[in-house]
Amino acid sequence: MEDHLIRHSLLGLTASQLQECFLENGLSRLDAKRVFPWIQIKSLLSFDAMTDIPKKTRIILQKKFSVDLPSCTALQESVDGTRKALLEFDNDNFIDDNVTESERKFYCNSIETVFIPDENRNTVCISTQIGCAMGCKFCNTGSQSFTRNLTASEIMAQIFFWKKNIEAFVSKKNQMIPSKNHRSISNVVFMGMGEPLLNYEQVSYALQLLLDTKAHNFSRHKITVSTCGIANKYLDNLADFGVKLAISLHAADDITRSSIMPINSSYNIDCLLKAAERYLERSNTDHITFEYLLLSGINDNEHAALQLSKLLNRARVWCRVNLIVFNSWPGCDFVSSCRDSADNFSRILLSRGIRTIIRKSRGSDILAACGQLKIQ
Ligand code: SF4
Repeated sequence: MEDHLIRHSLLGLTASQLQECFLENGLSRLDAKRVFPWIQIKSLLSFDAMTDIPKKTRIILQKKFSVDLPSCTALQESVDGTRKALLEFDNDNFIDDNVTESERKFYCNSIETVFIPDENRNTVCISTQIGCAMGCKFCNTGSQSFTRNLTASEIMAQIFFWKKNIEAFVSKKNQMIPSKNHRSISNVVFMGMGEPLLNYEQVSYALQLLLDTKAHNFSRHKITVSTCGIANKYLDNLADFGVKLAISLHAADDITRSSIMPINSSYNIDCLLKAAERYLERSNTDHITFEYLLLSGINDNEHAALQLSKLLNRARVWCRVNLIVFNSWPGCDFVSSCRDSADNFSRILLSRGIRTIIRKSRGSDILAACGQLKIQ
């Protein structure tokens, strides 16, 4: 495909990137200043409708750029109201010099993204990579091979997709949704497919847009980035955004953790806790969330609970533990812990002063819950 036919997406460009991009393409700084709020504040995804942009500029925009959303090839709704979308991207916007044009055509270019409405919040769970290379044994995404990183535009496209979806949903079911909290996205979690810190640059552009007061204007307290435990400079840099951090711990000793999470051989528990300590200091957040998946016969007994409470009480990290009862998926060998084991585990942590909740699982009937996303 000739280069001039590729229309680059503007959805993930920060204000300064948009200006730079416009100047490089013969457009003005003023054009960029006008276009940016149309996209990032009003979510207006049509150049034609940007009425204060001169017509001849709009023609150039139309020719060179895109504000199109990816196609939604499947949309499912759970009995609990959670919605999961399968979005197919246009691989044209993904440029990698190591990948030939013909290889690019055969790339899997779809991801899943989830919307979780609740009494007081509307959370969007977004993906950052197509597939995942981390291979966490309990995770359905981990059983799908890694294809590529998403661009910032593809990450932001998920936000725009759900904004439009909510608008359509609210106008259809208006009578059934009395709370104004249900009319917009209130929280964003980077907990979908992929490891966000392995796509740090693009994730950081998306974070800039989400936090920008002249764009999406999310509070840093409403955004959570989850990592399987990449305790390197990217985690340190993430702290500068001040967003909430969730670390997938899932075991209190290195042997168990390594057996279910290969990343533990690169960054063990000790290294992870030190990175969490640094994150707290640098980010000015008040706690870190440790995610702990309860897997029957693996990490859910009393001994594991005592070990975890000792570990977290020793660490100099203000934290909260989210216990997650494992959500099964086709072909997996793990078994969910029973409710009694989860309650007992939680009681032990609470009695030792660890703030703990058993996280409510959402969307498991449509494979939209934690660890269930995968492109077949
Ligand atoms: S849990 Fe996260 S990091 Fe681990 S395989 Fe799944 S998507 Fe990747």
